[in-house]
Amino acid sequence: MASPVAKTVLDLLFPPLCIGCRAAVSEPGFCAACWSNITFLDGPGCACCGLPFAVALDGETLCAACLATPPAFDSARAILAYDEHSRGAILALKHADRLDLVPGFTRWLGRSGRTLLENSDVVVPVPLHPLRLWRRRYNQAAELARRLAREWRLAYDPVLIRKRPTPSQGAMASAKARRRNVMGAFAVADPAKVAGKRVLLLDDVLTTGATAQACARALKRAGAAKVHVLALARVVKASDVLI
Ligand SMILES: [Zn+2]
Ligand SMILES: [Zn+2]
Repeated sequence: MASPVAKTVLDLLFPPLCIGCRAAVSEPGFCAACWSNITFLDGPGCACCGLPFAVALDGETLCAACLATPPAFDSARAILAYDEHSRGAILALKHADRLDLVPGFTRWLGRSGRTLLENSDVVVPVPLHPLRLWRRRYNQAAELARRLAREWRLAYDPVLIRKRPTPSQGAMASAKARRRNVMGAFAVADPAKVAGKRVLLLDDVLTTGATAQACARALKRAGAAKVHVLALARVVKASDVLI
């Protein structure tokens, strides 16, 4: 770790920049202006998938989609809305080697995901296919999951594997195509590690939830007692927000 003097010199030479607008900031992260634009998803929402509701309802209210087809996971929560204000930071973590963002994001995950974390035994990241991992050099979900597990004194087990490479979910045109793309793509390497356990599945962005569902299905098949999904961000379309 750099000494305070070295840190000051480094900051003078390379001042930390806001990950939103690249203005100089004192701590790595967002400047105050960008921070105020971030939509935190800590308001009322579906008791299962966390879909935001515009008004507070009974704590156990489910959204129409969860009522119609209960998801493979038991609950899902994301910290912030994935939009033009948060996209830069998430993509920086994902593609631009910004591992310095991991501690800050982990703090947010801990704060927003407290209930999920308190009800979990083991943290499992959504895996990258080995080929993609080799290209990117690290799996951002695994980096977050490992640190989160350490801070919350939970087990960390990257037990999910991708059985086949799947084209990026971002390239899929429809929710149906996303579902088909990841169907049967995941397996649990060592079922004994999750059998009877409450699993916290860590992902970076929930779009349609197809990846989280496919992972949750594999974990449940391996005997997981519960699967809770915690993500940094989720796509919230205005048309999705109920009431
Ligand atoms: Zn900024
Ligand atoms: Zn729901």
